[in-house]
Formats: sequence, C-alpha cells, structure tokens
Amino acid sequence: MAETNVMEQLVSLCKRRGFIYPASEIYGGLNGFWDYGPLGVLLKNNIRDWWWRNMVITPPIGPDGHPVDIVGLDSSIIQNPKTWVASGHAGGFSDPMVDDRESKNRYRADHVWVREAEGIEKKRVYVAIKATSEAHAADAWQQFKDKGKLPQEFRTKLSFEVRKHLEGAVAYRDVPFTQLTVEEQAQVIGPDVQVPGTLTEPRQFNLMLKTQIGAVDPIEAYLRPETAQGIFLNFKNVIDTTRVKVPFGVAQIGKSFRNEVTPRNFIFRSREFEQMEMEWFCHPDEARMWYDFWKQQRMDWWKSLGVSDAKLRFRDHAQDELSHYSKMTVDIEYQYPFTAPDFGELEGIAHRGEFDLTQHQQHSGQKLDYFDQDLQLKLKEQGVSPEEIKAKSRYVPNVIEPASGLTRAVLVVLCEAYRRDPNRQGTEELLSIKPQFAPIKCGIFPLVNKEGMPEVAEKLYLDLRQKITCEYDPKQAIGRRYARMDEIGTPYCVTIDGQTKEDQTVTVRERDSMQQERVALDQVKAYLLEKLGM
Ligand code: ATP
Repeated sequence: MAETNVMEQLVSLCKRRGFIYPASEIYGGLNGFWDYGPLGVLLKNNIRDWWWRNMVITPPIGPDGHPVDIVGLDSSIIQNPKTWVASGHAGGFSDPMVDDRESKNRYRADHVWVREAEGIEKKRVYVAIKATSEAHAADAWQQFKDKGKLPQEFRTKLSFEVRKHLEGAVAYRDVPFTQLTVEEQAQVIGPDVQVPGTLTEPRQFNLMLKTQIGAVDPIEAYLRPETAQGIFLNFKNVIDTTRVKVPFGVAQIGKSFRNEVTPRNFIFRSREFEQMEMEWFCHPDEARMWYDFWKQQRMDWWKSLGVSDAKLRFRDHAQDELSHYSKMTVDIEYQYPFTAPDFGELEGIAHRGEFDLTQHQQHSGQKLDYFDQDLQLKLKEQGVSPEEIKAKSRYVPNVIEPASGLTRAVLVVLCEAYRRDPNRQGTEELLSIKPQFAPIKCGIFPLVNKEGMPEVAEKLYLDLRQKITCEYDPKQAIGRRYARMDEIGTPYCVTIDGQTKEDQTVTVRERDSMQQERVALDQVKAYLLEKLGM
C-alpha cells in the first residue's frame, strides 16, 4: 500500500469513527485546527495520563538508585508579554516568508528554490519552484535533466522564450531564494505565476498568535507557543513552596499555539496542539549526565507506547541547527507514513544550560538562583574555604528539557496501529492499539437483543465499567459489531449468547488474533483485568 494512501485511509477512518474531525467543519473548517471526537479524546487522555504517571506519579529511578523528584504544574496559556521577550520568542521565533503580490500565495522563503539558468549570451533567467531542500529541488527538476524537456507544469506556465532559455541553458544552479541578491530576487518568476518580479523580499513572520487583554487600552499579549516558559516563571514559587531540591523536575501538559506557515500532514503540524514538557533543573556539572539519562528514558517511554524500535531513532542536532538557547539537542524521530523512508520529529531533548533562568532573572529583576544546602554541607566536610563554599553553593541551575507533542503522540500511536487485513470479515481495517491506550477496552454484546441476553450483558457491563472502559452495544449483526470494534482498536469483545444461560459462560474475542475463548461469566472481570495488565 502506498504510504500516502495509508494517511488518506487513516484520516478517513479517524473521521468516520469519531477520533479526529477538522475543526469548525460546518463552516468549511480552519486550516491547522482539529477537534478530537469521543474516541480521540479517550485515546489522547490515555497517552497524557501515561506520560503524567511516568513523570510525576512514578518518576523513573535515577542513576543513584533512588526515584527522581518531579512535580506537576498547570500554568496560564497567556503570560505577561515580557515573558516572550526574555525567552527570545518575541524576537527570534520566526520563519522568513515571501509573499507573491500577484497570486497572493505565501511561502516560507527557505522553501522557495530558484533555478538560475544562464544562456549563451550570459543572459540569466530565474525560475522558482516550491521545495523543502536542495535535494527536493533537484528531484523536481529531474525530468528536465533526464529528458531535456521542461516538466509539464512549466511547459504550460512559462512563456516560449523562458522555456527555450531553460532548455538551451549552458549553465545553471539551484539556489534558495534567500541567497539571491535583491536585484536577482526581483527577476524571479514565482512558483505560481508566469511573469518575473512578483515576489516580495523575505520578511520575518512571527509564529506567535496574538490576542488582546482588557477592554480599555487593551494590551497585546500572546498565546503561549510552548508550555516550558510557564515552568521557568514558577521556578522560584516551586522552590519556595514545596520540598524539592536540585536536581528536580517540573512537568506540564497543555495547549500551545503556533501560527505555523504551512500546517500539514493531518495533526502532525497544527496551529493549536498539546505539549508534554518537563524542565529538569540540575547542577551545571551534572547537566551532561542528566542529558544522557533523559535521552534514554524518553526513548524507552516511546517504546512503552507500543511503537516499534525500527521506526524510532535519535537524531543529534548539528551545531548550526541548535536553537539560540541550546547547548546540545537530540530529537527522537519517527518514520511517519508521510516522511518514509525519512523520519520526522516526535520529541526534542535539549540541554538549555542556564539560558532561561538567567534571561528571566535579567528581564524580571528577580533572583532566580538556587542555594544548594546539601552542596554547602558537602564542601564544608571536605574542608573547602568559607569563601569558596559561598561562591559555589549558590548557582543558577542548568536545565535539561524533554519536550514532546501529545497530539503528535496520538498521531504516532494511530500510524503504528493502522493495519489492513483482507481476511477480516466486515472490515479490512484494524487499529492494533496497545490495549493500555485503546479508547475502549471491551465491547459487551448480547448476541441477540432478546431471550434474556440483554439483561445478562447489561449487568456485566455495569459491573465491568467500574474498572474498565467498556461499551455496551446490543444492535446489528454480531460480525458488524466486531468489525466496528476492530476499527476503533478495542482489544476485547465479550458476547453473551444462547450457551450463557445453560453453562454461565461467555465468548471473549481478542482483536488481533480474532480468537475466541469461552470464559466463565463470573471470571470475565478477572480475565480482562489480567489481560489488560490492570
Ligand atoms: P518542528 O521542528 O516539528 O517544527 P520544533 O522543533 O519547533 O518542531 P519544539 O519547539 O521542540 O518543536 O516542540 C516540542 C514538541 O512539540 C515537538 O517535538 C512536537 O512533538 C511538538 N510540536 C511542535 N510544533 C508542533 C505543531 N505545530 N503541531 C503539533 N506538534 C508540535
């Protein structure tokens, strides 16, 4: 099955079965926004709760054999606008954009590649295409190179002279629009127009969404583009009001907003999404050790969602790719159907040094350093001089940040789970979600909606639902009910049939193998709890 097809089918299944809908659909939708339906919200919450459990409730065992200390936080989406000046988002959180005055299209400047073709008389022609990289641009021109003929879209778009010029060029090069001089940029034929000179110069385009606060003299504020800053702003509050000591972490899950230039690939890049971020505050000398620790922990966590090893990888950021705050960053990447055979980002683990706390200290005028009593005692025992102890026990902690997308995690779980099985009856489609994360764990069906079966089934449902997320469904042919449960990823179905009355047993069907087993009615709960690992 072609990979693009997989995405089309998955998006359609998600809509049809109530996982994810385009936002404001009855008004024609809104690009980059999605609504999570009844099953989508259950799936998202299951993943969210697992992250929270693994971070805050039962955090991992640290290198010293003791559990690490992480507390939770839920900070405001809108913070004082000075926050974003200090964090660097107000200045630097932007992509350069190019507008086309004629077509009114807008492009990321680094995604516009220009073929500069030189003719015999040294005359040059500049033709732009949309491409995300040099390799991508080269690919788009491949046909031209192979056959000496222009790609079809150019043959209909470009004038006869330009086409002749391109075909007869004695030299050419592919350059990103941003690297051309202003004079050269003015000669470029944009990707969606026929004449040169309609593209504007690249302009910075801030990715933060603006809003206004207050009715009289409103002030301009931003919807947060990441949850992390709320944690830094509360660093002192957490230190002063809880019993945590460095090293410790603060974890937060919540909505973030980015005015993405090109939202795409279903929920992969949206303008409103959810993040799961943890800021780990540690002594600068231990930062590297904790970076390595969290890198491994986070990879293990993705595997615990049921994501296969072969589709996950680390990718270290090159020096020139690092964000302004980062000393080193590694991404955990997944091989999405739309990136394959390449990979795309799932989570970033960044060594942010002391950047954030120092910035907020400078901009707010509040001290955000840490007095390390344990270190003070240790140095005293080592006979270190009082001056040195004083200097060393107060410091600005370093930060290691594992930052992931909750909505991207939902996408990964769905991509990983989506299967087609021609041997299945009623449907070929199946979501093989790890039972722990399945929105519905068990379907409960009376085989027919009479002969005392609904009463038994309903009684079982009322009992099971206290512990297990179940769905009671008495209607339609049994095959269609199984098919629906396969499509929504329900790992078990329990059917009450004619035999139940005779021997007090029911049929339990497992989703992936489709195998059926007879289980005593009074043992169903224990059976399911065991299978579900609850
Ligand atoms: P990308 O390179 O994909 O734009 P990023 O490096 O800007 O992501 P971070 O700022 O590190 O992302 O955010 C942490 C995580 O938040 C990402 O790994 C991703 O899972 C998620 N995320 C970021 N932007 C979006 C978005 N527009 N839609 C959905 N999830 C997002």
